[in-house]
Amino acid sequence: MSEQTTAPAGAPAARDASVPMVRAEHVSKSFGSNEVLKDISLEVKRGEVLCLVGPSGSGKSTFLRCINHLEQVSSGRLAVDGQLVGYREAGGRLHEMHPKEIAKQRRDIGMVFQRFNLFPHMTALENVMEAPTQVKGLSKAKAKARALELLARVGLAERADYYPAHLSGGQQQRVAIARALAMDPKLMLFDEPTSALDPELVGEVLDVMKELAKTGMTMVVVTHEMGFAREVADTLVFMDGGVVVETGDPREVLANPQHQRTKAFLSKVL
Ligand code: ADP
Ligand code: MG
Repeated sequence: MSEQTTAPAGAPAARDASVPMVRAEHVSKSFGSNEVLKDISLEVKRGEVLCLVGPSGSGKSTFLRCINHLEQVSSGRLAVDGQLVGYREAGGRLHEMHPKEIAKQRRDIGMVFQRFNLFPHMTALENVMEAPTQVKGLSKAKAKARALELLARVGLAERADYYPAHLSGGQQQRVAIARALAMDPKLMLFDEPTSALDPELVGEVLDVMKELAKTGMTMVVVTHEMGFAREVADTLVFMDGGVVVETGDPREVLANPQHQRTKAFLSKVL
């Protein structure tokens, strides 16, 4: 990242509405000699839902993981809410963030994975209460009230005391969403949240995500659910081979893809 240009030293993190929630500028990422993200530039505005679609291996998960500090970009600039991911700009230079700063930055980002990753030895309620009590130091009573509210929001008020093993995949995924929301994130990342579900359970999870979008949550969603993308997303980004091939209004891209690679992909998933 040494070639990055810099903002004035000590510039405060921008929080005004004009600053996009996510801004990637010429982001590349390599694993050894394998360049899996190639010069990605895109923005996710506040309150926007961006769907990221593309064939397996195109770099979608890697891009999400870079946003959430699970991977480090190899070059380019990646910022969340006006702050570079993992780096601080000071004295005209970039400095790697202290682990505490990284933890703080990560707390603002919720992530939901393909596999639900709930703690198996905790009930739904305990899963949702865990981070607010352990990480934020919220009192048990407050965390519980909030967790119950969130479980109700994802339609699981009646299942608060169930263990993950006694919940369906769709219910587990809804708990995972409630758990992410419990940290009051300003950005939610979803990595194929319905891909591991039986078909009849997909709708209930997409419905929860749809409701979340209506509240104005900024969301980046990797999905093959084109119906969801068409209905909910503000922007659709089609990636292939580590590059952004095409981006635009989902209704337009889906109805009238401009690139052969987009057409070929859509013909398989639609
Ligand atoms: P997608 O989510 O679009 O299927 P990924 O981001 O998972 O794509 O993967 C993109 C490419 O990066 C693949 O070729 C994959 O093998 C490679 N890759 C992903 N993570 C790693 C890793 N930790 N180490 C090495 N290669 C990786
Ligand atoms: Mg993936």
